[in-house]
Amino acid sequence: MFDVCVLGSLNMDLVINVDKIPAVGETILANGFMKFPGGKGANQAVAAARLGSRVIMLGCVGKDDNGDILLNNLNRDDIDTSFIKRIDSAPTGIALITVDGAGNNTISVYPGANMKVDLDYIDNAKGFIESSKIVVAQFETPIEATKRAFRIAKKFGKKTILNPAPAKKIDEELIKLSDIIVPNETETEIITGILPESEDSIKEAGKILIEKGAEHVIITLGSKGAAIMDRINFDIVPAYKVNAVDTTAAGDSFIGAISYYLSKEQRIDFETLKSAVKFSNKVSAIAVTRKGAQSSLPYLKEVIEVFG
Ligand code: ADP
Repeated sequence: MFDVCVLGSLNMDLVINVDKIPAVGETILANGFMKFPGGKGANQAVAAARLGSRVIMLGCVGKDDNGDILLNNLNRDDIDTSFIKRIDSAPTGIALITVDGAGNNTISVYPGANMKVDLDYIDNAKGFIESSKIVVAQFETPIEATKRAFRIAKKFGKKTILNPAPAKKIDEELIKLSDIIVPNETETEIITGILPESEDSIKEAGKILIEKGAEHVIITLGSKGAAIMDRINFDIVPAYKVNAVDTTAAGDSFIGAISYYLSKEQRIDFETLKSAVKFSNKVSAIAVTRKGAQSSLPYLKEVIEVFG
């Protein structure tokens, strides 16, 4: 049995530090280089596992060194990687990140093996979906495969969480297959056409998502916290006030935390969602006080130490 099944991306983040981001045609010497395990799917899997969930990850990596490193990394957090497929025809996904002295960056992602998640793979993973309580997906692996996974999940009465990131055009069929959709502000604007900046605009954007078929909507609002909505109820759960130093993976920590929390609940109603969001705000508040992506994701023990 698994608590959380994460279908999603595994990337190696290659981070180059420079004084100034080079212009087109320019070559410069960088002053630092590091490799970090990343990908929204893998980050969310690690976030849930560190809180205590039994996690299985579904996805694809290449038959290369980066693939080995990413799998070993997930195994260190006791995530089941036995069904992650090694692909011959594509390299492990990579993100090339150039950061200048002021913290500005440019990012180019080559999804590589992540795009090889196909319908056959999902059909063969049916048993893992059936033995999980929650299935989570994002938009860094093919949408058709996510739909198939969510359809299987619904057939077995499992809860599905969609994090529509990075934002792209909405797919109403996928929204209808999602018990909870969790976009951030930018993703909400791209999907609904409304930037959720005031209470009215948050409600308006949420209503559009509900009309498109979402049962529950959680819009994450950065340092303002997160809004929760269903057909009847609306609330904003404020974020904790912390000294944020790096918001990388804030959203991923939040999704991992929501998944962990809801895997322990029998049913999802508004009050349960409120408690889940309150807990997830705590986890993400810790994550933003630390540098990096996976390196910033807290263990349950740390969340209890800080918040009681
Ligand atoms: P994303 O990383 O996807 O853009 P958000 O920026 O909305 O997501 O952040 C996700 C969650 O992380 C928020 O709902 C909140 O709980 C927490 N968070 C983000 N930024 C801060 C901050 N500056 N202070 C406290 N909590 C934060």
